[in-house]
Amino acid sequence: MREFEKNIRKVEPYVPGEQPQQKVIKLNTNENPYPPAPGVVKALKEMNTDRLRLYPDPSSGALTKELSEFYHVDTSQVFVGVGSDDVLSMCFLTFFNSEKPVIFPDITYSFYKVWADLYRIPYECPRLDENFRLVKEDYYRENGGVIFPNPNAPTALYEELSVVEDIISHNRDVIVIVDEAYIDFAGRSALKLIEKYDNLIVVQTFSKARSMAGMRIGYAISNPTLIKYLNDAKYSFNSYTMNQAAQLCGVEAVRDKAYFEENIRKIIEVREWAKGELRELGFRFTDSKANFIFATHPDYDAKELFEALKAEGIYVRFWGSERIEQYMRITVGTKEEMKAMFSFLRKYMSI
Ligand code: PMP
Repeated sequence: MREFEKNIRKVEPYVPGEQPQQKVIKLNTNENPYPPAPGVVKALKEMNTDRLRLYPDPSSGALTKELSEFYHVDTSQVFVGVGSDDVLSMCFLTFFNSEKPVIFPDITYSFYKVWADLYRIPYECPRLDENFRLVKEDYYRENGGVIFPNPNAPTALYEELSVVEDIISHNRDVIVIVDEAYIDFAGRSALKLIEKYDNLIVVQTFSKARSMAGMRIGYAISNPTLIKYLNDAKYSFNSYTMNQAAQLCGVEAVRDKAYFEENIRKIIEVREWAKGELRELGFRFTDSKANFIFATHPDYDAKELFEALKAEGIYVRFWGSERIEQYMRITVGTKEEMKAMFSFLRKYMSI
């Protein structure tokens, strides 16, 4: 080993889902199958490219303002970043600096472990129960911070706000982050608890319900004090995180509330229909409240199914990790895409 090796920060990186360049039915990374709002397309087409000479607004002021109006909070309560991954990473760096372990569920967004390792944060992962539900009492122990997604990924399960509030109220001395990447397809957001709990941060994204995964926009909403700490960390890292196009398009996406709501309605409709189809094929799955379904089949090996689907040009997600080795995660696509998948599955299972 070379001498310098011992001073290198080595991490086991997060492995994102595949982004195949050929045309496939892509149900593997929870993207939205519908295009972004028309205003977004127009803003991009009409963008003043001469301005690209200049640095973007480091505060992303216009987007922050639009979000603050949409969610009825002050601009000082909004922090934006390059996808919620960027926002969450900044949150880990800023708020999780205790000797005590940060806690998050054993089955959850696998990036949490990576950030914890990257920033040398100790962590513990209490087990979800046998139905993949959060056990709230596991979060009563002493810790250095709490984070969980609601709905959780990849389980797709939504915890009622009373459960979320219970966890926050038992952790008043640390920061609690609720990652609401999929909340728009689910139920009530924890945003309304921000006034009541000064240790709460809610993180959301434009990647799912706003159809803009490729633009990379995420945001945190909290009280002005915590948002200031986040901004201080961001400005010590990279002042110009959000490019001009993202800022422009983000504003347009937030403005079109009707399109946003219709987009969500369509996804939920296809999701509920797809549950019926899966049931008919003998799959078992959790009661998804997200834009994906976490499914297993008693008679078919998940890895084999995943590979058979892939050979057919239908990409879903499979991990093969502990406790979920027999599960696949299927993103809710358009009805046509889902029909193509079901038609293949029927053939494969000779139904
Ligand atoms: N949180 C969860 C739970 C997710 O599943 C994802 C999507 N991979 C993200 C955050 C990050 O999404 P993005 O960076 O696109 O906002």
